[in-house]
Amino acid sequence: MGSPVCGFLKQNNIIFLRFFAILVLSCIPDGTNLCSNPSFDTPTIPPHSSSSSIPSSFKTLTLDGYFSFENLKHAAKDFGNICHYLPIAVLHPKSVSDISSTIKHILYMSSVTKLTVAARGRGHSLQGQAQAYQGVVINMESLDRPSMYIENGEVPYVDVSGSELWINILHETLKYGLSPKSWTDYLHLTVGGTLSNAGISGQAFRHGPQIDNVYQLEVVTGRGEVVTCSDKENADLFYGVLGGLGQFGIITRARISLGPAEKMVKWIRVLYSEFSTFSNDQEHLISSNNSFDYIEGFVVINRTGLLNNWRSSFNPKDPIQASQFSSDGKILYCLEMVKYFNPEKIDVLNQDIEKLLSELNYIPSTLFLSEVSYVEFLDRAHLSEIKLRSKGLWEVPHPWLNLLIPKSRILDFAEGVFGNIVKDNNNGPILIYPVNKAKWNNRTSMVTPEEDIIYLVAFLSSALPGTDGLEHIMTQNQHILDFCAKAQLGAKQYLPHYHTQDEWQAHFGTQWETFVQRKSAYDPLAILAPGQRIFQKAISIT
Ligand code: FAD
Repeated sequence: MGSPVCGFLKQNNIIFLRFFAILVLSCIPDGTNLCSNPSFDTPTIPPHSSSSSIPSSFKTLTLDGYFSFENLKHAAKDFGNICHYLPIAVLHPKSVSDISSTIKHILYMSSVTKLTVAARGRGHSLQGQAQAYQGVVINMESLDRPSMYIENGEVPYVDVSGSELWINILHETLKYGLSPKSWTDYLHLTVGGTLSNAGISGQAFRHGPQIDNVYQLEVVTGRGEVVTCSDKENADLFYGVLGGLGQFGIITRARISLGPAEKMVKWIRVLYSEFSTFSNDQEHLISSNNSFDYIEGFVVINRTGLLNNWRSSFNPKDPIQASQFSSDGKILYCLEMVKYFNPEKIDVLNQDIEKLLSELNYIPSTLFLSEVSYVEFLDRAHLSEIKLRSKGLWEVPHPWLNLLIPKSRILDFAEGVFGNIVKDNNNGPILIYPVNKAKWNNRTSMVTPEEDIIYLVAFLSSALPGTDGLEHIMTQNQHILDFCAKAQLGAKQYLPHYHTQDEWQAHFGTQWETFVQRKSAYDPLAILAPGQRIFQKAISIT
């Protein structure tokens, strides 16, 4: 590991140095999995020497928003519903200056406390990444959101708050016939939350992930400074923050690239029984000119009545043939494609689609089509959310596992995992699709396998109440990870979660040193995003 202390001392911040000399900036030293127990965990090391004085010290701050010190359980919960770390306070900021003042105050108190700060977007993290044990959680959603500014010129963009939800950006930009180009499968996530990870969906093969579709950010660093950054200005911070797991700053504004929006989409699903045929076709499509606008896929293991389920929302191209299709208990692979269109140009669209489909080798009787509005398509996962919430099944534990696998090893992965380690997908969908990494910017903090084409494989499991589901799924996830390691597939976790310094270092590989240097430059006391468990809060002396 490079020396973060030296990196920090090189920084020319005299005022800061007057108050603090760093004693420690280390990585999480042990391998304890604090998330293995789905209760409100209390790690053994007390983070503060005199925690009772902390709330009163926050009360001395002059803020536009406010702190709360009671009923904080919601800040110790996330979508994963596996890790629960109670903070000591929640800041409900109204202004960027509230965030900056709070961080500066925590720096000021650094000699007596190990307080940390976690920005919380919508809390859709999986393993406590937006939590701060006995620290301060910043409820980003309370930040005042000035109306979005949309530049409708040659290079269109929208300026939004870091706490803005992607669904709101979609609705606002559509008023101008524009929309962001790269999405996630679910839009009720915050800009700051997805840009801290990557934001990957079926458009990423063409446009890169969401982090590659940002022109400018406003960030509050771990020094409490409010900094504007872009490719031209403070570029190191800009690329550090993008995919930076919240380690270098809190995103308070983002300028997001836009493109023309269409009104409708043609949504197509076809099935394969051979993985290699399926993946060849996916790779062919992501490399073709004039291809589909969205390309994903999923695995179907040990499911009956699949095509019947589709009929509620998709129409078979040939109903008679489709009704005769039988999967014979085989593993099936579904290729999912979408083409955006304007209804006036439906003829051209149909010709384009016919041509693209003629180049594929799917099982002919399994061609299903649907036509929905652009908004309905992009916001599709919200419908599932509404249904699951009504059945009380949204707030169950979600032991998700997301992996990036290099193309050269995807056949080995499929052979080793589907049907062998994973015997059914009754716990939730398994997505699998390739993206062209050549379209991705390699200056961000995001880590991927080193190949031009990589696959995202997402095991999106839910642990149902009253079963041993959580334990079973977590064991299965570990088997998948063990298999990847043993077979040396060169896989990387997406939305990563590790316990030890060695694991994080291995994850970042050659990017580790840069990551550590950026940490010492922008968050030298390791205050930010402690829930990622990469760095441990440093102690300072005055
Ligand atoms: P949080 O969970 O609140 O925060 C995530 C991390 O970012 C934390 O470390 C937090 O401290 C930090 N953070 C939050 N806000 C900021 C900020 N303003 N500045 C700096 N750091 C911040 N991801 C994909 O890429 N593709 C998908 O298709 C996809 N689909 C999903 C579907 C569902 C149903 C769910 C629940 C998640 C999905 N995700 C997907 C994952 C999603 O990108 C992450 O959960 C992400 O963390 C966004 O959630 P959030 O806004 O609630 O962030």
